[in-house]
Amino acid sequence: MNVKLKRLKTFFESICIISYTASLFKREDTIIKKTNYPPSDQTVKISSESAKQFATQVVTWYHHQGRKHLPWQQNKTPYSVWVSEIMLQQTQVTTVIGYYERFMASFPTISSLANADEDKVLHHWTGLGYYARARNLHKAAKLIDSEYNGVFPEKIDQVIALPGIGRSTAGAILSLALNQHHPILDGNVKRVLARNYLVEGYNGLAKFDKALWQLSECLTPTTDTGFYTQAMMDLGATVCTRSKPTCELCPVKTSCLALASSQQAEFPQKKPKKKTPEKSTIMVIPRITTEKGDRVLMEKRPPLWDLGWFMVFS
Ligand code: SF4
Repeated sequence: MNVKLKRLKTFFESICIISYTASLFKREDTIIKKTNYPPSDQTVKISSESAKQFATQVVTWYHHQGRKHLPWQQNKTPYSVWVSEIMLQQTQVTTVIGYYERFMASFPTISSLANADEDKVLHHWTGLGYYARARNLHKAAKLIDSEYNGVFPEKIDQVIALPGIGRSTAGAILSLALNQHHPILDGNVKRVLARNYLVEGYNGLAKFDKALWQLSECLTPTTDTGFYTQAMMDLGATVCTRSKPTCELCPVKTSCLALASSQQAEFPQKKPKKKTPEKSTIMVIPRITTEKGDRVLMEKRPPLWDLGWFMVFS
């Protein structure tokens, strides 16, 4: 490779170029300039130094302030992290703790989960909601048991191919349990990044998600990835909260564009509301009166959407 080409390669390796719509502020590397221009698509360059600084601040904060005593953080394995990550989707940590402990006591290994009756697995999920999560966990355990001899796969593509595991969950499992270098982008991380870099858009908008994935890839360090992943999750859950973030305690407050422009409440933006169509229906609930009191007739149906039980008309 000639010298010129080598220099060009080193230059591109030392910066991340991210294209996104940023509001009110123009950011180039660590230089921040307030502008009067309306929001527009911008190309943002983040140098490896500023990415490294961001990660170091977050990891140092984690060592002092992060959560380290949750049950799934002790004797971590890909299986224990996987179960906890699935339970934590749409559910608070305090609710999950008891469910997690009972689940792991009944199904201590992937094979024990794979060989359990679905009813028993669902019983352990009763009250957590979103039962598709439990069904997918069970299905994936069966797959791991048959295809990988009961050992959780260690390649990101194999993990993403399992039922119920998306890119972010796969990255979280492999980085938290095995310290592999993968970015994550759950709701908490999205909030921190969208605010810190003033990325316009809302959850589910393709260009918003794309820009945030690029940012997450760029900022995730190659060493201490597990600590960084946990730190970003904790930061979003405990400091950069949805309402009333405690910016004075934030390790990345000096680089935060939302704080500098007092726009924390505006980021991430809210999805524009669609007019809800009005529909009407008639429901019949069959009820019988017995000596023990009134009973509603229900019958268990095959899995459909996320409902374990269905009314039947008979
Ligand atoms: S300074 Fe505030 S808004 Fe910015 S990332 Fe930290 S907690 Fe979030």
